Order: sequence, then structure tokens, then C-alpha cells
Amino acid sequence: MTHTRLESRPCGGKYGDLVEAIGNTPLVELKTLSPKPGVRIWAKLESANPTGSVKDRVARSLIADAEEKGLIGPGQVVLEPTSGNTGIALAMICRRKGYPLKVVMPDNVTPERTELLRMYGAEIVYSPGEQGSNGAVALALEMAESDPRYYMPYQYGNPANPAAHYNGTAVEILEELDEVAAFVAGLGTGGTLMGCGRRLKEANPKTLVVAAEPLQGELVQGLRSLEDGYIPPIIDLSLIDRKIFVSNRDAVVWTRKLLEEEGLFCGVSTGAIAAIAVRVARELDEGNVVFVAPDGGWKYLSSGVYTKSIEELEREGVFERASFW
Ligand code: PMP
Repeated sequence: MTHTRLESRPCGGKYGDLVEAIGNTPLVELKTLSPKPGVRIWAKLESANPTGSVKDRVARSLIADAEEKGLIGPGQVVLEPTSGNTGIALAMICRRKGYPLKVVMPDNVTPERTELLRMYGAEIVYSPGEQGSNGAVALALEMAESDPRYYMPYQYGNPANPAAHYNGTAVEILEELDEVAAFVAGLGTGGTLMGCGRRLKEANPKTLVVAAEPLQGELVQGLRSLEDGYIPPIIDLSLIDRKIFVSNRDAVVWTRKLLEEEGLFCGVSTGAIAAIAVRVARELDEGNVVFVAPDGGWKYLSSGVYTKSIEELEREGVFERASFW
């Protein structure tokens, strides 16, 4: 009997370890989103990573860097401020390696994030939701300063964060596409934009690097923007050609559009990033527009964003209250 092999990704004994299964995510074309024939829109589906987000790449890189430099030792606790995904990814890696983990997270993130962190055995310290990521960063810095038992990888200031994208995500994109006219990613720590942006511009200085940012005025975003006064130390603003804001409402509308038109079930920041990718694509005559889809939709189900009407979500204040990034 012959077996037809349908899988195009490596499988069946290729990976010796769960950590090796991080990266090499699918880059898929989203044909219905393309505004004109010569412009192709591609999404890098980071939900295919072991804990379901782009942050598996970063967590692996942060811990490997600390181990190489001898920064983590017995008796130490890994401490990190996170809006969720980095914490969940670190929790997986720390569980495998036996490092205790404490995460500082805004208290308005979806309950799925809390549950996943608990499931992996991480301890959670909450910071005030209305302070967004800034509040989590400030509290974690304070804790790390007051107790030498903590080792804080600090994704906002650690070059190992963009390095995960410079050596991984961007290389994978360049292996699959001959040219990238525009690259779009969300702006949180800036790791994705800096690592990919730098590598893609080295390959082709004409590649446009575009940041999608949560709109200001919605106090409760998990991440606060550059305008908010906090510029993560890893960010080199000269690498960003354009920065475009997206409201929570538009992000949700586009997240549902991806589901309805492409069958793509993704997190809400992906909707925001896709909206910007399409906007950029409309301004081009030809070429590839690539965006990173940071995670899948699973962690946002309880918010109702996939099933309730936009009016209902508006009435319930979901757009003001929830933190999706
Ligand atoms: N979207 C989601 C869902 C995220 O978790 C994050 C990072 N917290 C981002 C976007 C932004 O990515 P980066 O930190 O690389 O800027």
C-alpha cells in the first residue's frame, strides 16, 4: 500500500524536543484580502508554536541567553512583566528546565491567560489594569531591585528578544519570499518589529517597516504606546517607517473578517495588524506585504469577540475594558 504524504511541514521524528518545535511557522497567503492582483498579502501564523504564540521564540531566546551568560542559577526565580503571551511561553520553558517563574501582569487580561499561566505552574502578581503594561513593568522592576533572588530577563530591554526574530522569524520569511515590499507587525516590546525590520532591511533597504499600535484614549490596553512616554530600550525608532494606530473596535471587526473570509482564527491583535497590512497594500502597485499574526484566538474566547454582535460588545464595554495585545 502506498501512502500519500500531505504534510508539508516536517513531522515524524524530526524534532528531538518540544523547544525545537518553536519557529518554522507557516507563511500563508490571504487571497481574499488582496486589494489588487499584483499585491499579495501573507500572514506568518505564530499560533503554530507550542504555547500558541510568537513569544515562544522570545522565551527560548531569553532563557538561552541567561544560561549562556551564567545569569540563572539554583535558588533563583525568573521574574518578568508580561501582558500574557511572554509569561505563558516562559512558563512552558521554565517548567521544562525547572526554574520557578513569577509573572507581573495587568489585572484586566482575559481569564484564559491566568488559567494557562497557573496550568504551567507560574505564580502571578497583578498590576493595575488601567496602567497597562507600564504598570506591570514598573512593579516588576521594583520587585527585582529589592530582591537579588529574582532574575528578570526583561524582554523590553533585552537584545535576546529582537534576536529571536532577527535569527528566526525574518530568516524564515526571506527563505520563502524573494522580495518583501512591506512588513507589518504589532508594537508591544518592539521585538518583532526590530528583529524582523532590521533583517528585512538588510536584505532589501526598500522594504517598508510598519508598526500597528493600539489606539490611545482606550486606557485599558495591555500595552501602552510610545506616545504614552515609555519607549522600550530595544526600540530603534529609525527602523520604523510608519506607525499606524488601530482602535479595539476596528481590531475586533478585522479579526472577525479574517475568520469569515479566510477561515483564520486568530487573536485580536492579528486583526489590528491585518487591517494595517491591507491599508498598506492598497497604496502599493505590486509586491508582497507580510504581517506577523502573533497568536490564535483561543485565549480571547471568553471575551465574546467572535460570537457577539459588535453592538452587543459595544454595549457591554468590551472595547474599553478588555486588553487584547
Ligand atoms: N500581539 C500580541 C497578542 C502580543 O502578545 C504581543 C506582545 N505582548 C504583541 C502583539 C507585540 O509584539 P512585540 O512585543 O514583539 O512588539
